[in-house]
Amino acid sequence: CGIVAYVGHREACPVILKGLKRLEYRGYDSAGIALMNSDLTVYKKKGKVADLEAHLAGQDISGNIGMGHTRWATHGEPNDVNAHPHFSTSRNIAIIHNGIIENYAALKTLLEEKGHTFQSETDSEVFINLIEDIRINNKCSLEEAVRLALHEVVGAYAIVVLSKDAPNQLVAARKGSPLVVGIGEGEFFLASDATPIIEYTKDVVYLNDYELAVIKDGQLDIRTKEDIKQTPYVQHLEMEL
Ligand code: GLU
Repeated sequence: CGIVAYVGHREACPVILKGLKRLEYRGYDSAGIALMNSDLTVYKKKGKVADLEAHLAGQDISGNIGMGHTRWATHGEPNDVNAHPHFSTSRNIAIIHNGIIENYAALKTLLEEKGHTFQSETDSEVFINLIEDIRINNKCSLEEAVRLALHEVVGAYAIVVLSKDAPNQLVAARKGSPLVVGIGEGEFFLASDATPIIEYTKDVVYLNDYELAVIKDGQLDIRTKEDIKQTPYVQHLEMEL
């Protein structure tokens, strides 16, 4: 339901938690966060963002890159395991996903035959294992694997993917569910709408359907699922909080 991701010079966790609270009006049943520091760690909880915050007490929540999600369950009941983010089988990559993957059951069967295992009942965990499968088979980069996966999934999505092997990189894509990129000074934001972003920057790019945004080395690269590079259309928002 709600997505917030951050990479830059700030601590990611407080930016993400505050952003998730700004998206609470959308409604949700669970909340979770993935943070990259010496490892890629996921914390998630059924309930409110406040319940996630209580769960984070005493944990290592350092890191300048991360992503958070509020879930409105469509596949699998609201519980801690079905909450996002979801890891791939290897636990090297993680995803947050808004929307519905309509062909998830067929994809899941194929992936299980290839040895992928699933913890949750969500369609989203199928998506991240599909990305992992493509990455292993094609020996390609994370962004290329995400791009190719967009050709296999049917349905609606806004996703953000984090990988241990590319620890400074955010890869995002959308079709049917909104996703906004915020461009700050040496920092980037991703969110379902601009409300988590505008206190930091008013310069935003609204992703179009079937576009991928790759943020790495302080650069934003937008391309279509056919791998055609796009010139980002940066809008300056006038809205106030
Ligand atoms: N279909 C996904 C799930 O049930 C994502 C739901 C959402 O948009 O929050 O976990």
